Amino acid sequence: MSGSSARLQAIDSVIRYEPPAQSFSATETPGEVFGQNVFTTTVMKARLPKPVFKSMLATIEHAQPLDPAVADAVASAMKDWAIEKGATHYAHVFYPLTGLTAEKHDSFLEPDSSGASMAEFAGKTLMQGEPDASSFPNGGLRETFEARGYTGWDVTSPAYIMENPNGNTLCIPTVFVSWTGEALDHKTPLLRSQQAMASHAQRVLKLFGHAQPDAVVSYAGAEQEYFLIDRSFFYARPDLLASGRTLFGARPPKGQEFDDHYFGAIPERVLGFMLDSERELFKLGVPAKTRHNEVAPGQFEIAPVFEKANLATDHQQLLMTTMKRVAQRHGMEALFHEKPFGGVNGSGKHVNFSIGNSTEGNLLLPGDTPHDNAQFLVFCAAVIRAVHRYGGLLRATVASAANDHRLGANEAPPAIISIFLGEQLADVFDQIANGGATASKGKGSLVVGVDTIPALPADPGDRNRTSPFAFTGNRFEFRAPGSSQSIAGPMTVINTILAESLDFIADTLDAEIAAGADFDTAVQALLKDIITTHGAVVFNGNGYSEEWQIEAEARGLPNLRTSVDALPQWDTDEAKDLFEKYGVLNHRELESRYEVALEQYVLSVGVEARSTIEVATTTLLPAAIRYQTELATNAAALRSIDQPFESPTLNEVSAGIGELQAALATLATELARDTGKTAFDEAEHAGTELVPATLAVRSAADRLEAVVADNLWPLPTYQEMLFIL
Ligand code: ADP
Ligand code: MG
Repeated sequence: MSGSSARLQAIDSVIRYEPPAQSFSATETPGEVFGQNVFTTTVMKARLPKPVFKSMLATIEHAQPLDPAVADAVASAMKDWAIEKGATHYAHVFYPLTGLTAEKHDSFLEPDSSGASMAEFAGKTLMQGEPDASSFPNGGLRETFEARGYTGWDVTSPAYIMENPNGNTLCIPTVFVSWTGEALDHKTPLLRSQQAMASHAQRVLKLFGHAQPDAVVSYAGAEQEYFLIDRSFFYARPDLLASGRTLFGARPPKGQEFDDHYFGAIPERVLGFMLDSERELFKLGVPAKTRHNEVAPGQFEIAPVFEKANLATDHQQLLMTTMKRVAQRHGMEALFHEKPFGGVNGSGKHVNFSIGNSTEGNLLLPGDTPHDNAQFLVFCAAVIRAVHRYGGLLRATVASAANDHRLGANEAPPAIISIFLGEQLADVFDQIANGGATASKGKGSLVVGVDTIPALPADPGDRNRTSPFAFTGNRFEFRAPGSSQSIAGPMTVINTILAESLDFIADTLDAEIAAGADFDTAVQALLKDIITTHGAVVFNGNGYSEEWQIEAEARGLPNLRTSVDALPQWDTDEAKDLFEKYGVLNHRELESRYEVALEQYVLSVGVEARSTIEVATTTLLPAAIRYQTELATNAAALRSIDQPFESPTLNEVSAGIGELQAALATLATELARDTGKTAFDEAEHAGTELVPATLAVRSAADRLEAVVADNLWPLPTYQEMLFIL
């Protein structure tokens, strides 16, 4: 088969594509579908004995400890409901350190001596599972003689039915821990961090005179960017299959420079996919809301309505798996990789977050009265202080081989973690630093209160797309997370560093008041102290500019450009003490996470290097050599009839082949090198040697792609993948 026939076949199948038949009735409304497959509190209310339901609600809504006595009743109701929904199996779903979702399925049906019978699904089975955990990464936490891991029911994330044409499964979200109770997953620390943040937020609220504040929670809304390409192209790209991104590909004549894709009309086939996946997500109770085209061709975004962070995190994972599945149904592949295509924008996952509770509402919403604003400014100051003190951890939590392609590349926020407050709020903090704010910029009237804090409008009006951490009127938006990442890591860090700041704030105010200060004066002094000490992290300018790199350095803000620079942030005494003090991760757990992050980095870079060698050696080099032969034959023929002949093309191809072979040899040598003892040594070698050596192979190959005859080139081109949908 000549090089391009796979490509032609792929194009042909795109042309012949027929959308799948509509699988639902036209009269169905989104309202009917929403939560259809979820064991919601409404379902519980209808099916559980009243006291059991009340107890469950106290845990789910108000963070009361779970009463294990209710488990049997819940399990029995859950099983009946699931079987009515066609479930034959149940699965504990957990979130190991790979960042993916894992499931262990068991049948409800258990054969006994009298033939098949329905097994009991007892409270015990609901509460705890025991998957064989030996093949999940644990960073040295699980001793080899004790490979078992345990899953434990997370009551706050509802069970749901996962449908499959061949049978349905009851899915139960769980934590995943070792036999010593150490966290092997992303959910456990998230729940712990949530608890820590809540307890210190409550202390602050009490100081503001709220006698009995409800449990504070963090909310998260994650905007998900992704690419869609036709599956025929996907299968014709071994690099995409192996590593999730294209390791080769010359720039297309047209990329994103016309800005003609962003918010443009959504292609019909893509819209069909979106409608279908939204319906599936609705069934699972995932509140998908916003959809639009993104900046790059073939790139799109979906954003759900924000939810409690733990639930939002589980839903985010469900969203990715569901969209991958539905895309396949529509003959496409959904790419969640941070940088599937060089030269066009990559994908991120902006994590919008706020904190609040049922009694006080959103604590990051500016209020109408000076008093409310004082409270708002205190919580806002807590965020500023937290981000300034622990920006390195925020950077580390988004570090991965894939995200290294985005951060600092003028399409995503820089690797420097700073906060954008908007002109108005920054001005208020400036005034506080200089002795107390009396005026709110952009407002006609001044509201001067006892505590001299002005009224603030909810929407500050301005937006900044270049900041990694932006205040957007009633929430912060952490814009650095990568598109394929779980948001559990970022939310765990945010909760933990906020817990520490709120703890500091409550302690400071307690001490001032004990020393006889009046509350308003103490708050003023505290705000002034925080903004003076931590204001360096506030930056409202252009985060993509050269000047910012220089200024940030002068301000003492770290600029951790790559994962190799950023990941050691997990390994500092400061980080270990922080996570241990707030009961989120003990030293061993944190060390294990550092270890796993390094391992994952090395594995990703290694897969890319090996895939690069394979594709270049077995696919691209042969194509180039065929073309070289053709040109050489032609040259020989012309010379044999005494035609004056020079072949710049032949020279170019020969030079390209030479460059490719040399780059391949270097890469192979680097891959084979013994890189040292520690996981960090390996990561450092991967980052400083393998990454550039892999890129050198690519640039030689891309140069060849630009000269080799198109009908010999074996890989679908960027133009084909990005523009044929
Ligand atoms: P953008 O203009 O930034 O692209 P989107 O509408 O795409 O905005 O996404 C905004 C996200 O922020 C949504 O997921 C939304 O639910 C979430 N969000 C809105 N308000 C809050 C809040 N108070 N706390 C957390 N997330 C929020
Ligand atoms: Mg958006």
